[in-house]
Amino acid sequence: MRHVAIRDGVILGAGDLEELRGWGQHRIDDRFADKVLMPGLVEGHCHLQEGALWSHTYVGFFDRMSPEGEMQAGCKTVDEMLAKLAAAEARLDSPDAPLPGWSLDPIYFDNQKITRHQLDAISSTRPIGVMHASGHIMNVNSKALELAGLMRTGINHEGVPLGNDGLPTGELRGPDVMSPVSIHVGFDRDMLSCDEHGMWRFGRLCVRAGVTTATDLAARLPEDAVETLRHVTGNDRYPARIVPLRFHHGVSPEDLIAHVEALAPQSTDKLRLGRIKIVVDGSIQGFTARLRAPGYYNGAPNGLWYIAPEQLAYILEHALRKGIQVHTHTNGDEATQLVLDTMRRVLRKAPARDHRFTLQHCQLADTAQFRQIKELGLCVNLFANHHHYWGDQHYELTVGPERAERMNAAGTAVREGVPFAVHSDAPITPLGPLFTAWCAMNRRTASGRILGEAEKITLDQALRAITLGAAYTLHLDKELGSIETGKRADFAVLEDDPEEMGVERLNETRVWGTVLGGKVFGTCDV
Ligand SMILES: [Zn+2]
Repeated sequence: MRHVAIRDGVILGAGDLEELRGWGQHRIDDRFADKVLMPGLVEGHCHLQEGALWSHTYVGFFDRMSPEGEMQAGCKTVDEMLAKLAAAEARLDSPDAPLPGWSLDPIYFDNQKITRHQLDAISSTRPIGVMHASGHIMNVNSKALELAGLMRTGINHEGVPLGNDGLPTGELRGPDVMSPVSIHVGFDRDMLSCDEHGMWRFGRLCVRAGVTTATDLAARLPEDAVETLRHVTGNDRYPARIVPLRFHHGVSPEDLIAHVEALAPQSTDKLRLGRIKIVVDGSIQGFTARLRAPGYYNGAPNGLWYIAPEQLAYILEHALRKGIQVHTHTNGDEATQLVLDTMRRVLRKAPARDHRFTLQHCQLADTAQFRQIKELGLCVNLFANHHHYWGDQHYELTVGPERAERMNAAGTAVREGVPFAVHSDAPITPLGPLFTAWCAMNRRTASGRILGEAEKITLDQALRAITLGAAYTLHLDKELGSIETGKRADFAVLEDDPEEMGVERLNETRVWGTVLGGKVFGTCDV
């Protein structure tokens, strides 16, 4: 198709000029005559904090593009990581300012444990916190522990490992123990996700990646944060629709349901409120995900539960009754099974059709679980970027060859008829649905190993997953995800044709910018 007609931000039709002339008086805009328009890409699992994190020190292993398009070099050793933090420390003016670093990935450093002593050597007077790439673990220095009241003996919590001296080592695992320290080290998730400057930088990343709709998958959404979200997305120059999901943590299940009910009517066409995110377990590469027997390949102890089963059941049941959609993070297959068993029970009490509750990540589900997912009316959003970023580690260390070959089983989802999307979980890995689609089609690890031929998907299936597929998991497919009459005029504007780039080279597709509701955004416009 050569043309698309739009009016008031909505698509009238796509086809030949002659067919579209019938809509009446028109102006022909040929700015994109030599470009390719795709439906605006939908990132069904990412976090707004990616924007704000760029104000902090990036200490990830891989090179990474900033919102402004500058490439930051990765840290290839622990010493390089510590040196980068020390250099950032030297640039801080205020003596009490915290020093936050992000995207640390010890699995690339033989899983060496980082201790508070190493961070104390950078500063013992200002709080330092380094978030792991998984987002589920943080290393802090003694000052940060002290400010949170944790620099003492006698702590008995599985998320706080202790050293020989009986004091915390500075590693914090899981939201229970990370949250109280986060606020002292500049990592308050609420602040990060509604930081106005960070939101604009996130918008820039969206334009660069061809994304027009993005989730913020774990937000607490206090009143002032909602106000900021409404204010920023309400600006005509803001280039993305944002779908924040209310995080279950830190609030009673009853209050959670009530809060989300109150949020829903505050939605606008660029801010979609009224959904819940539950986190059931941790991360596989951090060994905090809950796995069924036989557990971790390297013998690591099983991971952590982030919610009590009764609370999970309460939230799922009451959300079903009230028509509130729930997305549930389950990395390990034991966590997935808990959600499946609970859904089966609560659906008997509160029958619902077309609920589209979605399992997020769902990385280790086997075929039998996919059949249950189908039967219960669930969707999955698979973490395809894992094949590239941690595929080698999964094969060698975390789950071993057999399960690594069927991780993020998009092929099985297709065969079993389970609606699915694929995601980046930015900032865990960089935002970029075309790259994510490439990962799902090729399943190639950083070292070049192919993980699971049978789980590869085709170009059509992958492009659908990052558009209509993701829109479907958000109940937004009636207005987003394809170029057709009546849908919003949201497009990714590409320099290359994905069909020509093909399975092998889709990740090299160059993005010119986006169109949102008929407004054009180039990469330098935001
Ligand atoms: Zn996430």
